[in-house]
Amino acid sequence: MPSPTPDTRPPPAKTAINLPANTAAKTAAKTVAITTAKTAAQKALDKLGLRRDIDLALHLPLRYEDETRITRLVDARDGETVQIEGQVTNSEIAFRPRRQLRVTIDDSTDTCTLRFLNFYPSHQKTLSVGARVRVRGELRGGFISREMVHPAFKLAGGQLPGALTPIYSTVAGLPQAYLRKAVLGGLARSDLSETIAPEYLSKNLPQPIWNLREALQFLHTPTPDVALATFQDHSHPAWQRLKAEELLAQQLSQLEARRVRAGMRAPALYPSPLQNTQCSLHDQLLERLPFRLTAAQQRVGLDIDSDLQKNVPMHRLLQGDVGSGKTVVAALAAARCIDAGWQCALMAPTEILAEQHFRKLISWLEPLGIQTAWLTGSQKAKERRESLAMIASGQAGLVVGTHAVIQDKVVFKNLALAIIDEQHRFGVAQRLALRSKMTSDGDEPHLLMMTATPIPRTLAMSYYADLDVSTIDELPPGRTAIVTKVVNDSRRDEVIERIRSQIAEGRQVYWVCPLIEESEVLDLTNATQTHEALSAALPGVLVGLLHSRMPVAEKKAVMTLFNDGVMAVLVSTTVIEVGVDVPNASLMVIEHAERFGLSQLHQLRGRVGRGAAASACVLLYSTGDATRLGDTAKARLKAMVETNDGFEIARRDLEIRGPGEFLGARQSGAPLLRFADLTVDAEWLAWARALAPVMLDKHAALAERHVLRWLGTKGEYLKA
Ligand code: ADP
Ligand code: MG
Repeated sequence: MPSPTPDTRPPPAKTAINLPANTAAKTAAKTVAITTAKTAAQKALDKLGLRRDIDLALHLPLRYEDETRITRLVDARDGETVQIEGQVTNSEIAFRPRRQLRVTIDDSTDTCTLRFLNFYPSHQKTLSVGARVRVRGELRGGFISREMVHPAFKLAGGQLPGALTPIYSTVAGLPQAYLRKAVLGGLARSDLSETIAPEYLSKNLPQPIWNLREALQFLHTPTPDVALATFQDHSHPAWQRLKAEELLAQQLSQLEARRVRAGMRAPALYPSPLQNTQCSLHDQLLERLPFRLTAAQQRVGLDIDSDLQKNVPMHRLLQGDVGSGKTVVAALAAARCIDAGWQCALMAPTEILAEQHFRKLISWLEPLGIQTAWLTGSQKAKERRESLAMIASGQAGLVVGTHAVIQDKVVFKNLALAIIDEQHRFGVAQRLALRSKMTSDGDEPHLLMMTATPIPRTLAMSYYADLDVSTIDELPPGRTAIVTKVVNDSRRDEVIERIRSQIAEGRQVYWVCPLIEESEVLDLTNATQTHEALSAALPGVLVGLLHSRMPVAEKKAVMTLFNDGVMAVLVSTTVIEVGVDVPNASLMVIEHAERFGLSQLHQLRGRVGRGAAASACVLLYSTGDATRLGDTAKARLKAMVETNDGFEIARRDLEIRGPGEFLGARQSGAPLLRFADLTVDAEWLAWARALAPVMLDKHAALAERHVLRWLGTKGEYLKA
């Protein structure tokens, strides 16, 4: 771009300072122009997360364009993107079918028409008759001659580049040329020295790899002879290098977090001597349960017990399908903790879920003389003060609540165990807050996280490598498999008929309406309308409505009626998604099932099939006049019909959504893998897992450099 000449600029304002006015103004204007340009680009780079040199170096091209050669028009095939060079033999503005610039190029082997629907005078100027130009674009068989629409062009001449031209993902205000320069600069300045322990570079490699500088240099500026396919499928040794590096960084930082934790202290929870004489709370609770624990529950209970008896903080994920009975396992762990004379806190993501836990735990623990405090955001000031006092004095052995549990005002007397239900619904910041809040005198609490969304093995091994995992892989006996049916919305009447017959048998029914994220209002209308329609269709039946905008007290009232069996049908938005436990409910209808995610559908379905009665789930889908069910929606519904197994569901969900979505990138806060793909890079994952401890033990400096290179400050998040 030509720089503005002094003549076109407004004259400098008269200043009191007697300087050679012209020069001063010029310099000032220049400086301003440069700094603003710089900050705009800098801002754009920031937006892309490209703050450090190494971030720039690791910003790989989306694709490449080949400007290294000129193709003769006779040799070029239709549909091919080529660079040609020739003379402009004609240039005109045509008006049919609409205003456009048409330019004819002759490269002496053939001719070709360039068409521009949007163009500037500068287009015409460069592409004037007689000019020799270099043009790049996709060649198409046109009406009269072959043509290129909106090709890139410049005057011919100048050397052809020796490397493919990288095209980067970018944002507004950051042109490719600027970004390219920035990337190459970052690459040149980055420390890319070897960080992989030498003994693991020479042997044990699943695939040959290049060194990092060569690999990145090559990926940013590949020579034209490269087999583009090996770039695309990431099998090229340059790509293999990045996969290896990235997975190693992930394993290193997680192993580091694990070791840091192993160096921390937590109270070892043995039954206190006082209670040794009588039966422990744990055993009393076990005795009083109306059921026997499943073998799986017993097994995970032992895992937890053995963790709690150590003086290092437990960091365990308890995963078990919906309805597998995680709550009682949590209650038994709480009893162990209270037995030893310490406090336990249980935190759940929603008030409804927290309250469910509260009721259940009270019914189990209060008869044993354990006092429980309830904490939530919506509670009255007086009640809250009482809870806080009970927690501070240690009178409450157990604290149950929502996020309110981790607020500043809450002071525990002696917290030793924190249990988080549906851990994936808490953000990283909240998990960090929990950890730091609960640390006292250098002691950390034991942490038990529970989830009903099992994490497939490869993901667990990579993203959750610093967690110990226990799995309840068996449902309590006597559960009947839930039969799932996919039904078109046009058959609603039959579904209502089915509801009627369930109610006649004394059963209860859930009807779930989707949450439409963009519009809570629409969402509400939908649920309200369904509620009205069902009430009208089922005279004499109490049909309740539950949605996120209702005041908490009202929600509670509705839940109580449903819990107590007074209300036969509960229409709700997804607020019942987790944890609600009404064994008498035997039918679940999910409206617009095509809009739900797979794990979510599975969790919803898990609300039924909890009692002895045969249960069913009806997935209502509707397709508008013009739309048909998308492939992924179909795949989700199909998976729901085919399996009730939470692990299988999780596997398919991962397949459909990919790890980023599956883990919920925002929620998990874990830096997601950008280069490695766990579905194909299992060998690299195994390699990195084996290497990480060796690096930390024998090559601490290399390890540190490696983690810093890849994770920078993001490494902190892994400790949450
Ligand atoms: P989730 O794992 O989804 O949190 P819950 O803890 O809510 O499951 O348990 C589901 C239901 O199963 C509850 O009513 C619970 O009391 C019951 N339950 C738990 N363990 C057993 C068992 N071993 N035998 C029979 N019922 C059980
Ligand atoms: Mg639960």
